[in-house]
Amino acid sequence: MVHVGIGYDVHALVQGRRLVLGGVEIPHTHGLDGHSDADALLHAITDAVLGAIGEVDIGHLFPNTDERWRNAPSRIFLEEAARRVRARGGRIVNVDASLIAERPKIFPHITAMKQHIAEALGVPVAKVGVKATTNEKLGFAGREEGIAAMAVASIDLPEEAG
Ligand code: MG
Repeated sequence: MVHVGIGYDVHALVQGRRLVLGGVEIPHTHGLDGHSDADALLHAITDAVLGAIGEVDIGHLFPNTDERWRNAPSRIFLEEAARRVRARGGRIVNVDASLIAERPKIFPHITAMKQHIAEALGVPVAKVGVKATTNEKLGFAGREEGIAAMAVASIDLPEEAG
């Protein structure tokens, strides 16, 4: 039976941090603030995958009070979510995500992001969607105070007995 999950994440843009989105470092004047590498896109996809299998969210699995995750590559979190899918006998059908960022231009990095996400999830790249949009200069994203990401995941899980 196919289950769906949803994920959403935001991180603030600050000076003196790297900008990492979808596992890809993007040259920019600002980077995303956070305990890990603050990759909002991977965090949103991780939560979508976890949600589809009824697990707790990324913040509970990988608390920002745990020194192990300081500046950690968020790929670790996505790989763990995919491992939990496999442990349940599940199969990721597809994931899709949107980034909301006024700057920098995301499109030139989409192919590399999709490849990174597909490898972390252990699925063909054709199963991974990543799009980007601006927020038309409106709100926190439009003022370049932060970058947001939303994601959905579709996962085929075996029917549980009883
Ligand atoms: Mg996050």
